[in-house]
Amino acid sequence: MTSDRYTPGQTNPDATDPAPSALESIGWSSFFQSQLTPADGIPGRVASANHGRFLIWTATGELDAGVTGQLRKSGALWPAVGDWVLLRPGDPVIHRVLARKSKLARKQPEREIREQVLAANIDVLFIVSGLDRDYNPRRIERYLVMAAESGARPVVLLNKSDLAAELSLDLEAIVASTQLLSPAATIIPISAISDHGLDVLPAQLAPGQTAALIGSSGVGKSTILNRLLGDNRQATTAVRESDSRGRHTTTTRQLFVMPGGWLLMDLPGLREIQLWAEANQSSGALKDTFDDIQQLAQNCRFRDCSHTAEPGCAVTAASIEPARLANYLKMQRELTQLDRKTDIKSAREGPSKNKPGNKTGRPYPKQDRPE
Ligand code: GDP
Ligand code: ZN
Repeated sequence: MTSDRYTPGQTNPDATDPAPSALESIGWSSFFQSQLTPADGIPGRVASANHGRFLIWTATGELDAGVTGQLRKSGALWPAVGDWVLLRPGDPVIHRVLARKSKLARKQPEREIREQVLAANIDVLFIVSGLDRDYNPRRIERYLVMAAESGARPVVLLNKSDLAAELSLDLEAIVASTQLLSPAATIIPISAISDHGLDVLPAQLAPGQTAALIGSSGVGKSTILNRLLGDNRQATTAVRESDSRGRHTTTTRQLFVMPGGWLLMDLPGLREIQLWAEANQSSGALKDTFDDIQQLAQNCRFRDCSHTAEPGCAVTAASIEPARLANYLKMQRELTQLDRKTDIKSAREGPSKNKPGNKTGRPYPKQDRPE
């Protein structure tokens, strides 16, 4: 982790009273300011995380920090990339994570029921899909549900538009059918190779706002990041080379300052995206993306209609694309299961084991481990 990506706009020798403009340039706002009391220490933003060590951007520069033993034991919020944290003056150690404006989370792979926060305080989620064989509306729907749950605004980037002619793709038709997946999402066809459409992306964010890139491996996330970084291109190369397994791929989630003054985070190496929603709020998670189906379902004869073979089902009677309906039902099952498992687990453990600060009733991850 080098220090060439973040240079505070304004330095302030008295770090306990940081210059607001330097912090605002990396996302600080009244939402976070209002959580502070005077004795709270130095605010900083988590730019990357690596096995319990965190690269923190403060008003005066960047530093490497751990967390206090107390925070580790308390079960309170664990720092994720994008989080605002408080450091003890004179001792760079994180003692508190400020409440989040938004959080992108999934169910941790291969674990019973743990939440894994992938990114915190994201304004825009760039959902990247290739227009080549990677294009998969069902996967895009899954990311759209994740975005809706996170609180970030979804923007779908259909990358590799330079291949459209070669693959005989009707770009306009694909954009239109992608838009049907979610009327609220913004759909932008781009090419990271030819730069087509890339100039539109910075306009999606105001200076100081944060976006994240999510999508399968190979869709072009790091190419997009590099093209947008321009002269700072070196930064990603350094990260890619430092992969411990020696593969030419990134697994680190990391924040970058973009030339226009906004921030961008790559979320590489996510092979599996299982949904996560706050306990007992799972039906709301599907609302933005599947509003059409949920509206129809209100007219089904049975309240607990499964929309498969029941008589009087308003959903199967309508002309919903079967694959879209199947995907909806699959995600609904996944979320219902999450709720049921949580109930069983908290009943077994009893209320005394419910850790402080965890409103979901589900355990926090002990540590946010990269895959
Ligand atoms: P990531 O795994 O999502 O980070 O994907 P990469 O950025 O590593 O890109 C995967 C492959 O797709 C690389 O060979 C890129 O050169 C290629 N690629 C990325 N963007 C484009 C594009 O816009 N057009 C074409 N034709 N290839 C692209
Ligand atoms: Zn029904």
